[in-house]
Parts: sequence; structure tokens; C-alpha cells
Amino acid sequence: MMQGVQDSTVRKPGWGMIQQVPLLDLGRQYAPLKTELDAAVLAVLAHGHFINGPEVGQFEKAAAAYVGAKHAIGVASGTDALLVALRALGVGPGDEVVIPTFTFFATAGVVTNLGARPVFVDVEEDTYNLDVRGLEKAITKKTKAIMPVHLFGQCADLDAIFKIAAKHNIPVVEDAAQALSSRFGDKHAGTLGALGCYSFFPSKNLGCLGDGGLIVCNDDKLAALVRKLKNHGAEPKYYHELVGYNSRLDTIHAAALLVKLPHLDEWSKKRRENAARYDKLLAGAKVQLPVDRGQGYHIYNQYTIALDRRDDLRAHLKSRKIGHEVYYPVPLHMQKCFAGLAYKQGDFPASERAAARACSLPIFPEMTVEEQEYVAKAVKDFAGQA
Ligand SMILES: *Cc1c(COP(=O)(O)O)cnc(C)c1O
Repeated sequence: MMQGVQDSTVRKPGWGMIQQVPLLDLGRQYAPLKTELDAAVLAVLAHGHFINGPEVGQFEKAAAAYVGAKHAIGVASGTDALLVALRALGVGPGDEVVIPTFTFFATAGVVTNLGARPVFVDVEEDTYNLDVRGLEKAITKKTKAIMPVHLFGQCADLDAIFKIAAKHNIPVVEDAAQALSSRFGDKHAGTLGALGCYSFFPSKNLGCLGDGGLIVCNDDKLAALVRKLKNHGAEPKYYHELVGYNSRLDTIHAAALLVKLPHLDEWSKKRRENAARYDKLLAGAKVQLPVDRGQGYHIYNQYTIALDRRDDLRAHLKSRKIGHEVYYPVPLHMQKCFAGLAYKQGDFPASERAAARACSLPIFPEMTVEEQEYVAKAVKDFAGQA
């Protein structure tokens, strides 16, 4: 996936000649930016400020301006962003954090790692985002935060979530790991809650050169606490009021992100165009297509279809050399490591159905129309028309 530019397709005369379609081809993103990216990385090697070099502050400023938040603070990963954000809100042993059960593992893992208990809520059958109908009954006296996930690039129903959160006076942390550049109304995902968390894992819409993450917020005190926590709890250096973490966005990642950020809007636009094209190509196919709720700007970090014979579809896609992935095969309440929380199969039917039926198709910005047609034909050949 990351071994430079792949000439993975023979584009003419159409899908019959296509040899394979990768789920993601970062080489095609790298090629047009190569000169700039190489120079940015080499500049870091030359100046040698690998930790907290000037590019880190520059990127934090650029990212804050981009999403329209007062503060942006780089951390070592999206997982760390969630961890530090919850810790800044005081989440610890004995507390509960309400999260959807159909999401990437980190959303729950950080809660447990803080000594708190993840309390799961089901998702909506069509958007895969937190179903607010289950939210209120998940709230207890111990609930310290609600953490909706903007899954696959579409914001959860934040109006409804904030209404319930405000009623119970509980802060909201946005897991916007898959949703940088997505919007709810005209506001950027991640900027509406007390804190917003992003990931720069290479498969996210804005990827760095390995692991990286970012926390945004508008509150000065909270921002200062986040900065302290990610720096071993020290302020000033070597004076520790708290036991924090060593979590930094490395200079080399910030340098790459500064080159890439100006292209993010264009990439998101292309993902939306690809999604619209799939919608058309797959219209009438016997699969469940992703639903755009129309509450903002969906940036399709994933284009996820669903069908009953999902695993057979996977074999079929594999035989046609089409990259795909199941995000996510096991809802978190059924993970072995959470057996102690005593959830059982049947507790969250929409999430369990999604885990059994979902399949994400290639949607990266640089994919060609021919490749999309090839993928859509493969899906239709398998699933048939309605
Ligand atoms: C990717 C992701 C994370 C974690 O980000 P990392 O940078 O991989 O640590 C958290 N939550 C969700 C929903 C994600 O997709």
C-alpha cells in the first residue's frame, strides 16, 4: 500500500482490462506531491528539531484555522487524542463514558485504560452512527462524558446528542478520527463538543507518515490542561502537578501534514463525487447503500455497503482482485476483552447486524471512473438487481 506509486491499473479500454483495484493507494496521493513532501521531510532532517520543531506549531495553527477552533494540540495518535481528551475532563476509575458499540476499538479502549467503564449504545441501521434513542437510558450518575463517533466520515446526530447531554450536564467529546473536513451544519466535525479528536493514521482522510493525532477545543483552560497532560503533566518543564503522558505529534509528521492540509478539501470533494458515482452505479443492486443524512458534509472516509451474504461477497471481490475491508466485524460489546462488562448477543441488534453485513469498498480520491465501474459491476454481478 505504501510502496510508492503503483501502476495497478491498465486503464484502457475499460474495466475488462483492470488488473486490480486497491482499497487505498497512497502512492497516487504521493506522486503529485512528491517534490514538496520530500523537501519538507528533508528540511526536518536538516534542522534536526525532531521533537516540537517549528513545523508542529505551524501545523497546529493551520489546523485550528482550518476547522475553526481556538486551540489545536498535536498528539501521538488518534487514540492518544481520545485518551488525553477524556482525561482532561477528569474521566477516571469509577466513571462511565457512553459510546457507540459499532466503532473502531480505540473509542472504548481509552475509556478502559483510564480505569473507567465504557457504556455502549446501539447505532442507526442506515448511517451506523450512534442512535440517540438509546442514549438517555445509558446515562447514569456516573456518566462523565458522551463520546459519539462520526463514523465513515459522517457526523452523528449532534443536535439530538447535545440536547440530551445539556439536559444532564454531561460534556461531549467528538471522536472525529474519520471525519476531519466533515461538517455538521456549517461547523467542522470536532469543533462542536467540549473537545474534538482527529487521527492522522495513513488511511484517514488526512494521513501523516505513521501515527499522529490532534485535539481541538475552544476553552483556554481545557486547552492548557490538554497541553500539560500530553507533556507528562509538566508545566513548566520538570515541575509535575499531574502524572500525564508522553504524547507528541512528531515534527516530521507535522511537516508532511503542512504540505497535505491544503489539499484536503479537494480530496474530500473527490470522495463525495466517488460516493455519488457509486450511488448511481449501484442503484437497484440488492445491497444496502450508505445513507447521507444531509445534516452537513459527509466526506466518505469509507463507502460502506451492507448485505446478508457479506462473506461470500468478500470472496467474490477477492477473486476479482478488488480491495475491500470489513469495518468492523465484531461490535465492541461482544469483544472478548469486554466480557467482564456482561453484555450479550442481542443487546444491540443494529450494531450486530452491521458487523455481520457491512463491507467497505475502495473510495480513495484518486481512483478512476473505470475502477469504480469495475468495482460496481463486481458487486452487481454478485448481488443481482432488486
Ligand atoms: C482511527 C480511529 C481511532 C484511532 O486513531 P489512531 O490514530 O489509529 O490511534 C479512533 N477512533 C476511530 C473511530 C478511528 O477510526
